Amino acid sequence: MNKRDSIAPQPILLRDYVVPAFLLDRVDLTFELDETSTRVSSRLVLHRNPDHPVSDADLVLDGHELMLESVLLDGEPMSTDRYDVDDESLTIKGLGESAILEITTRIEPQKNTSLMGLYKSNGNFFTQCEAEGFRKITYYLDRPDVMTRFTTTIIADRSKYPVLLSNGNRVGEGQYDRNRHWVKWVDPFKKPSYLFALVAGKLSCLQDSFTTRSGRKVALEIYVEPQDLEKCHHAMESVKRSMKWDEDVYGLEYDLDSYMIVAVSDFNMGAMENKGLNIFNTKYVLARPETATDADYMGVEAVIAHEYFHNWTGNRVTCRDWFQLSLKEGLTVFRDQEFTADMTSRAVKRIDDVRTLRTAQFAEDASPMAHPVRPDSYIEINNFYTVTIYEKGAEVVRMYHTLLGAEGYRKGIDLYFKRHDGQAVTCDDFAAAMGDANGFDFTQFKRWYSQAGTPVVKVVSQFDAANQTYTLDISQTCPPTPGQPEKLPFHIPIALGLLDAAGAEIPLQLAGEASLQGTTRVLQLTEASQRFVFTGISAQPTPSLLRGFSAPVKLDYPWTRQELAFLMAHDSDSFCRWEASHTLIREVLLELIAAARASETLSLPGELVDAMRRALLDEAADPALIALMFTLPAETYLADQVDEIHPDAIRTAREYLRVALAKALRSEFKHTYARFCGATQAYRYAAVDIAKRALKNVCLGYLTSLDEPAFIELAQTQFQQANNMTDSQAALAALVELPQGATALADFANRWQDDPLVMNKWFTLQAMDKRADALDRVRALQQHPAFQITNPNKVYALLATFCSSNLAGFHRADGAGYAFAAEQILVLDKLNPQVASRLARSFNRWKKLEPTRRAQAKTALEKLAAHADLSRDVFEIISKNLA
Ligand code: ZN
Repeated sequence: MNKRDSIAPQPILLRDYVVPAFLLDRVDLTFELDETSTRVSSRLVLHRNPDHPVSDADLVLDGHELMLESVLLDGEPMSTDRYDVDDESLTIKGLGESAILEITTRIEPQKNTSLMGLYKSNGNFFTQCEAEGFRKITYYLDRPDVMTRFTTTIIADRSKYPVLLSNGNRVGEGQYDRNRHWVKWVDPFKKPSYLFALVAGKLSCLQDSFTTRSGRKVALEIYVEPQDLEKCHHAMESVKRSMKWDEDVYGLEYDLDSYMIVAVSDFNMGAMENKGLNIFNTKYVLARPETATDADYMGVEAVIAHEYFHNWTGNRVTCRDWFQLSLKEGLTVFRDQEFTADMTSRAVKRIDDVRTLRTAQFAEDASPMAHPVRPDSYIEINNFYTVTIYEKGAEVVRMYHTLLGAEGYRKGIDLYFKRHDGQAVTCDDFAAAMGDANGFDFTQFKRWYSQAGTPVVKVVSQFDAANQTYTLDISQTCPPTPGQPEKLPFHIPIALGLLDAAGAEIPLQLAGEASLQGTTRVLQLTEASQRFVFTGISAQPTPSLLRGFSAPVKLDYPWTRQELAFLMAHDSDSFCRWEASHTLIREVLLELIAAARASETLSLPGELVDAMRRALLDEAADPALIALMFTLPAETYLADQVDEIHPDAIRTAREYLRVALAKALRSEFKHTYARFCGATQAYRYAAVDIAKRALKNVCLGYLTSLDEPAFIELAQTQFQQANNMTDSQAALAALVELPQGATALADFANRWQDDPLVMNKWFTLQAMDKRADALDRVRALQQHPAFQITNPNKVYALLATFCSSNLAGFHRADGAGYAFAAEQILVLDKLNPQVASRLARSFNRWKKLEPTRRAQAKTALEKLAAHADLSRDVFEIISKNLA
């Protein structure tokens, strides 16, 4: 038995859930912040939980990397034989029905590089407690089903830390001693520890206010480093729009007197919904036209909305345990998606989200890390903040909406809050509220929570001219996933329509129905296979299936290329128009990949060129939709479509298609570029302008791939004259792999060296470089002064982008990419296990690689696994990959 076997981290199981042995009546915290050692004093008022099965259970408080100074029970120092301390807990024996514990610990936030618990960033203090960071601050019942009221007193040097923030309302402040001041906060709402937050530092504040529909005035405050104050206006507008939307659409009002957002540049994730004091990655707060792209602006608006919406879906009603994470995340992502759809373009938003789902979540579902929306086990909960929990979870909530309709969905939501406000609940509670409010049985539907994997829905159609019927035989299967060899049928809503030969919608009536019932129908597939017969169909229709992407499934229907081109031109569902183009391009690419593997000559099918030309020249169409039609699927997405991954063949095929389309549509791209070139002079964040910039820049990308001097000059001119980052970045991206790229990159770095968020873009572009020496470039860039391995954004921009998105670069035949990743994972694991673990996921596709690469990847994984001191985070990814 090696060392790892003896101490291998053990999984936590959903079925082992037990209610807490003790509950908290209140907690009072005092922080004495200091440069070398911070003292945290906590006063816990506890009582036994009558629902706990053991009446004299020990009190086990979670705690990690804490130095215990003292424990007082009911005001008296406790003798050390009444408690045990180990690496992960403080256990107190022999307590009565209730107790008051006063615990003092010391911590060293300045040494905390994991960015969990209390840590420092650019000289200021911040916290991140979700999921289990609070235990790195003080001993506590660090689980979401223990909710209580918090008061927090912060004491710190007045000049270094003029701003002292925590959750709730500021109730007092004063001078503590000569140089130190204090502020006291009271949060009137019960909350679990993961929603605790503290911020201390030199920060500037943008102030505004929002008056709720019942007339309460809420102070809005965004705190950033002083030089960033001018970049907060878009975030502030986004807050106000979110507050208004949640009132209008969900009837939900904000509940505290102030709502604070703080931006920090060192942050593991996007942002955190701490009660009344959201803490954000600067990436999702700071934006001005010269430094942020349209995508960044949308990201800020969406993440602000997401965290704001959590105040109800997450905070007022929270999760019983971390297996229920999607209860709050899936629901809140669905809410922010709908918000963005209402603020921008619904069709474009839906397509963007489906692309993410397909590229990232379908890949996860097909990987060794596949897990259900409600997992039943985990080794490290931080590994489960995944696209499955978030994005697939949002699709599950969207399906309730699709099945119940907007009104029925809202009834379900209202009942959910009526029943559970102030509680920590489960996904079953959510399903029950949805079902009970509508008399709808969600029993089978709940398999979406328990079964992993992406279902495949196969449709076979048959037109019967004599009987005027159109029959759809629909069947479903779901591939095995770890621990789940067989699946039961899902309850799948399938929205569809039928088009006649002229492209018009056919009113639909199913056999047995008394009347026509609209042109888009939602069929409910609940069996392994089912037949649906439409009557009164006089000629062969073209089916438009899975409208709006009504379920997170893979659709298998044998459209001809003519039919796909027809749908691209005529479908009334914009999602399906794009989807038809995507299907057509995917099929062509799969053929090209096969041809590239067989070293055959590649050629471009005429149907594709014609369909794409028609789309490009359709001046009535939304330019954003056209831009998306011309955005080729990612290499990684293509890798997930083939049985065996040959990264070079995928790259060759995709690059061939890009250049071939550029050649075939050269004049159309040129014309379209010119049409939109001057169309958005002064930068405005508005859907119409975003759409124009998007299509213009797609055209620029194709044109520069022709390597003609005139088009390269076009890109250079755009690069030099751009007044916004969208255009500047697009031009730089177009140039980067050309001989002219080096100068452009140098100019860009020179201009933006002091703006870390802009420099992230510079790193990302180079991490995606398609030339053979990409890995050497990445290595060299690690030495650049703007790169810091301790900053997650930098690691994501350079290392994670290279390892997880530069398919042929990372999966080099010689295995150098794998060795590099392994080396970086080990370095990072010592600093920040969450970030290391994200990088480790780059191996998730290894089993599908062609044999040479598969062997190389396996060697790298086995070397990693041999390290006995891996974090639980990395251990879980590596061991599941090797299982
Ligand atoms: Zn969230």
